[in-house]
Amino acid sequence: ATNTDFALAIEDLTVSFDGFKAIDNLTLYIDKNELRVVIGPNGAGKTTLLDLICGKTRATGGSIKFKNQEVTKIAEYQRVRLGMGRKFQTPSIYENLSVFKNLEVSYPSGRSVLGALAFKCTDDVRQRVQEVAQDIGLADKLQLEAGLLSHGQKQWLEIGMLLMQDPELLMLDEPIAGMSASERDQTADLLNRICKNRAVIVIEHDMDFVKRIAHKVTVMHQGKILAEGSMEKVQSDPQVIDVYLGH
Ligand code: ADP
Repeated sequence: ATNTDFALAIEDLTVSFDGFKAIDNLTLYIDKNELRVVIGPNGAGKTTLLDLICGKTRATGGSIKFKNQEVTKIAEYQRVRLGMGRKFQTPSIYENLSVFKNLEVSYPSGRSVLGALAFKCTDDVRQRVQEVAQDIGLADKLQLEAGLLSHGQKQWLEIGMLLMQDPELLMLDEPIAGMSASERDQTADLLNRICKNRAVIVIEHDMDFVKRIAHKVTVMHQGKILAEGSMEKVQSDPQVIDVYLGH
């Protein structure tokens, strides 16, 4: 059965590294406008799963459908064009440019960064920058040099740079790492805002934070899904407590 409402449909996905199955016959469906959190012990395969979805790593078996379209074998940049965005842990912002310029050059114009800088900003782009700046809570920081932002604000800016492309699926790996308590609160609000228009997958270890943001939780272990459902449901699952939460 096909459900056109899925943002992402992953079926029987497998990847082996020298015979070791880092992802082992995994099936996972993500709805549009869903915020899914993936948890699990170190080595469970969480990062590898995101690598497979975004195309950084190629699957050895199974299929990945994005918006009902088979993407398993297409290149990473093609998946970006279709509407996937992935944020890695180390920020990659332009420290010497203003927040505004960082967002502006991230608009999908087909130009290089230097090309975008040389080109006069259009009203469309300016409006998109304003919208995204609201979403990421940096509307009053647009003229500030990005290098002067706090650690948390830099993370939000990077999310904003991805949002400039209006992705339908956004993937975030431990978005609150290194953040202060108030930055964590603001990140929870930010994630709740941005999943209204897109699916979001977050890898996260901080259970208090998971509780605040997750619509549904997927617990991974040894390349497989150990449990899936509401936080309440997976939290009380004896297997989950045994391999993960009990420690
Ligand atoms: P997690 O993100 O849940 O901590 P990873 O996805 O990073 O787990 O890793 C899952 C398993 O796959 C680990 O045992 C890791 O060593 C292995 N692995 C990941 N990438 C590679 C690779 N490129 N080559 C070999 N083994 C890998």
